[in-house]
Amino acid sequence: MGTMLEADVIVIGGGASGITAAVAAAEKDASVIVLEKGSTTGGAANMGMGIFAVESKYQKAQLVDFTKEDAFNLLMNYTHWRVDARLVRKYMEQSSNTIDWLETMGIEFLGAYKYFEKSTQTWHVVKTRGSNAPAERAASNMFRALTERAEELGVQIKYNTKATNILMKSGYVAGVELVDETGETVMAECNAVIVATGGFGDNPQMIHDILGYDWGKDLHSFRIPGVQGEGLRMLWEAGAGRTAPTMELTYTTPGVTDIFKTLSETMRQPNLMVNLDGYRFYNEEIMSNTVYTGNAISLQRERMAFTIIDDSILDTYRKTGLDYVTVHHNIKTVDKWDKEIDSYLSGGQSETAGLAELHNENQKHQQNVYVADTLEELSELTGINLKNLKETIEEYNKACNESDQMFFKKQKYMKPLGGGKYYAARHYPAGYGSLGGVRTNDKMEVLDPSSIKIPGLYASGTDACNIYGDSYCFFLPGNTMSFAVNSGRMAGYNAVDYMDSDEF
Ligand SMILES: Cc1cc2nc3c(=O)[nH]c(=O)nc-3n(C[C@H](O)[C@H](O)[C@H](O)COP(=O)(O)OP(=O)(O)OC[C@H]3O[C@@H](n4cnc5c(N)ncnc54)[C@H](O)[C@@H]3O)c2cc1C
Repeated sequence: MGTMLEADVIVIGGGASGITAAVAAAEKDASVIVLEKGSTTGGAANMGMGIFAVESKYQKAQLVDFTKEDAFNLLMNYTHWRVDARLVRKYMEQSSNTIDWLETMGIEFLGAYKYFEKSTQTWHVVKTRGSNAPAERAASNMFRALTERAEELGVQIKYNTKATNILMKSGYVAGVELVDETGETVMAECNAVIVATGGFGDNPQMIHDILGYDWGKDLHSFRIPGVQGEGLRMLWEAGAGRTAPTMELTYTTPGVTDIFKTLSETMRQPNLMVNLDGYRFYNEEIMSNTVYTGNAISLQRERMAFTIIDDSILDTYRKTGLDYVTVHHNIKTVDKWDKEIDSYLSGGQSETAGLAELHNENQKHQQNVYVADTLEELSELTGINLKNLKETIEEYNKACNESDQMFFKKQKYMKPLGGGKYYAARHYPAGYGSLGGVRTNDKMEVLDPSSIKIPGLYASGTDACNIYGDSYCFFLPGNTMSFAVNSGRMAGYNAVDYMDSDEF
C-alpha cells in the first residue's frame, strides 16, 4: 500500500468525457484528480474530428434550418422512445452552449458539416491551427485545450495510472483503488467518482461474449488502445445496473479503407453490392450511411459483402467524378485509381496518412480488392456464387434501363456492368467502439438494477452512452463525441452539486 491520495472528485479515464468532466467539476471549485492509464488525455476522441450541436452560432451563420425540436424528434423517433428522453433533451439543449464554452478555452471550429448527404448539418469540426480544411484527428486540438484548462484550474492528472476498483462505504462512494505509475497499489479517497473509461472497443473477449462478433474475422472495428471495459466491470461490481451494449457499427474493406483512399472511396460508391450467395440485399444508394451499411452486411453469410464495378463505371467516374464525397477523406475523383490499384495488387504502400496506422497489421496483408477479366474468374477469386451472380447482374443491368424494382435505388445511381475488367471489394462490419453498458439517469448518476441511484457514483461518455437504441444515429453526426463531452460536463457539475446537497 502506498501514499494516500485525496480529492472531492476522482474521474476515472481522461478521455473525451473524463477530461471534460474534470474541467466542469473544477470550475465549480471542487478538487479533482483524473486517473488516466495512458500517457495522454483525449482517448479515442483524438482520432475524431468534431462534435454534434444544434442551434449553435455556426449553424445560425450557415443558415442551417434545423432546430432542437427537430433533433429531439428525429432521435426519439429513430429509437422508438426506448431511450431516456429527459437525458436526450438535456444533452441537446446544452450542446450549443457547450460550443461557446469550449471556445472560451481557445478551441475554434470550422463550422457545421454533414457526414453524408442525408445527414443533418450538426457536425462541428474542430479547426486545426493554420488550416481551414477539415482534417482527420482535428479533435485532438480540443482535448489539448481542455487539458490545459484543467491544469489551470488545479486538476491533478495522474498519467500511467490505472483505476482497479471503486471503493464503497455504507452504500456511498468512498474512493478508488488504483495502480500508480510505479506499479504500486494505492487507495484514493473522494466523495464522488465519475467513470468515463470509453467502453470495451479494445477487448475482443467482451466483444465476443457481449456482442457475438469474432474480432479480426467478422468484425474489423478500431481498437483504440486502453478501452478494455474496466470501467464497466468496476461499475457493475459496485452495484450498478446493466444495459445491453451495442457496437457503433460501420463497415470497412480491411487493408484498404483509410489506407488506399481512392480505391476505398471508389468501392464505397452506390454501385452493385452482393453477398456470398451472389444476391443483392441493400439499396446501395444509402451506402454512405455507414451504420446502415454495417448493419446490413452483418446480417449476411460470413458477415461479408462485395461491391462490384467495371471499367465502364470507372470511365464514367473519370469524366464526372465520384457520386459521393466524404468530408474526412475528401476524395472527389478517381485520378489516383490506376496508381493505387497497381500499388495495392503488387503489395505496395499508399501515401499513408491520417487514420491508416490505426488499422491492424494483419488486415493489411489480407486481400480484399480483386480484379478479374470475367465473372467466372471473379467468382473463383471471391467465392461469390457464380450462377446467382450472373443472374443478379443480368437483372441489375435490366433495371439500369428501366427501374430498380428490387430496392428502389434512384436511377441516377444505376450503372450497368459488363464493360471491361471487373473490380470487387470485400467489406466487413467495422466500428468505432462499443456503446453503453451502465444505467444512469438524466443527471449521469449511476443507478442500481432497480433504478435507485448509488450516491456519489457517476458515469459518462461511452460507458453510459445508451441514447441510440440498437444503432448509432448517423443522421445527427458528431453525436458520440458530443455525448461524451456533454455528459461529462453534466456529470462534473452534478457531482459537485451532490457534495453541496443535503444528500451528502
Ligand atoms: C477513428 C475515430 C474517429 C472518431 N471520430 C468521431 C467524430 O468525429 N465525432 C464523434 O462524435 N465521435 C467520433 N469518434 C468517437 C469518439 O472518439 C468517442 O465517442 C469518444 O472518444 C468517447 O469518449 P469517452 O471519454 O467515453 O472515451 P475515450 O475518449 O476513449 O476515453 C477513455 C479513456 O479512459 C482511459 N481508461 C480506460 N480504462 C481506464 C482505467 N481502468 N483507469 C484509468 N484510465 C482508463 C483510456 O485510456 C482513455 O483515455 C471517433 C472514434 C474513432 C475511433
